[in-house]
Amino acid sequence: MHEYGIAYDLYATARRAALENHADRVLRVNVDVGKLAMVNPEQVVFLFDIIKEDDPLFSKSTLECREVLAETACTCGYRGNEVHVCPSCGALPEIVKGREIVVTNVEIEVDD
Ligand SMILES: [Zn+2]
Repeated sequence: MHEYGIAYDLYATARRAALENHADRVLRVNVDVGKLAMVNPEQVVFLFDIIKEDDPLFSKSTLECREVLAETACTCGYRGNEVHVCPSCGALPEIVKGREIVVTNVEIEVDD
């Protein structure tokens, strides 16, 4: 399943970041999901919750997905969010951003 691999990658990335920062708990994992990434954020959250279930580091954590608009560029100089047709010249614009799924921030708690 596509979403499972994504959820697992997000978990692994967040876990690595948490351990590097000596976290005792992960509170929140913020993720940007490109509109063209072809994933269902709700399903990623659902799977993330299953994957992290047995990990005490993540017992209180939530995954927050933020949808990010696509960014496109055209040879005519157009830059914007139109994916299918360039509004200035009618050509097919190139997709610059919008396919990626990235962890933007991991909020952690460190015990004294
Ligand atoms: Zn154009």
